[in-house]
Amino acid sequence: MNNTNSDQAAAVSIIGIPFDDNSSFIFGAAKAPPKIIEALTSHSSNMCAESGQDLGESQQWRNLGEMYLPESHTAFKDIQAQLKPLLEQQSRIICLGGDHSISYPIVRATSVHFPNLNILHLDAHSDLYDSLDGNRYSHASPFARIMENQLAARLVQVGVRTMTPHQREQAEKFEVEVHEMKDGTPENLEFDGPVYLSLDVDCLDPAFAPGVSHYEPGGLSTRQVINLINSFKGQLVGADLVEFNPTRDPAGITGMVCAKLLKEIIVRMLDDL
Ligand code: MN
Ligand code: MN
Repeated sequence: MNNTNSDQAAAVSIIGIPFDDNSSFIFGAAKAPPKIIEALTSHSSNMCAESGQDLGESQQWRNLGEMYLPESHTAFKDIQAQLKPLLEQQSRIICLGGDHSISYPIVRATSVHFPNLNILHLDAHSDLYDSLDGNRYSHASPFARIMENQLAARLVQVGVRTMTPHQREQAEKFEVEVHEMKDGTPENLEFDGPVYLSLDVDCLDPAFAPGVSHYEPGGLSTRQVINLINSFKGQLVGADLVEFNPTRDPAGITGMVCAKLLKEIIVRMLDDL
């Protein structure tokens, strides 16, 4: 990462986490962070969010590049350790994944600074498996670990359309508020206190975002996701954007979707400071 101890951290820091070892089907999400930044800075669009705020002119956010993660088995500890100094400088962090397993160490680090953290989780999947294929740290399990460790006061899931009986049991056990796609998309979400947004790109219908590892039709539109980012009541203090798989995005559509969502998340976060 391009940040030394002597630098004052920006109000919002963007960090790539090139890690997909806990994927369960195909790999590729580790290659996402530079592709998202490439799309963000591409001349095909401008740097203005929909509110009109020009991120090209703002000094309040900084892209720190990618984390160095030498070993898979220490990755979660390394992620936490590298986020800690930024959080201590009161920087708000947006992590670019990577597979969804990284949300567990990120939320662990974030919850130290925001004890009553609410989580808004957008995903086709509820990611509540106790374990998948024998892996308790699978990308299908981060929210089981987060809830077991009491790292969130409240977990609200939107976009879900793959619930199994086991995951329904888990949702009930952890008192997760699951808004399934079949029941419609909630409007006017309200949170009391700090909010962490965990955005799995497969919450979108694959027609909008084909560059993901798990195609799950019947999902959210890009418009709905942008509106969700901008409309909930609460203070956005941290976010991740995960599961973009550039190996399945030959036309670059999903990269541009991620860049668009990232712009909206940065501006929302700056507005909430
Ligand atoms: Mn997920
Ligand atoms: Mn998913």
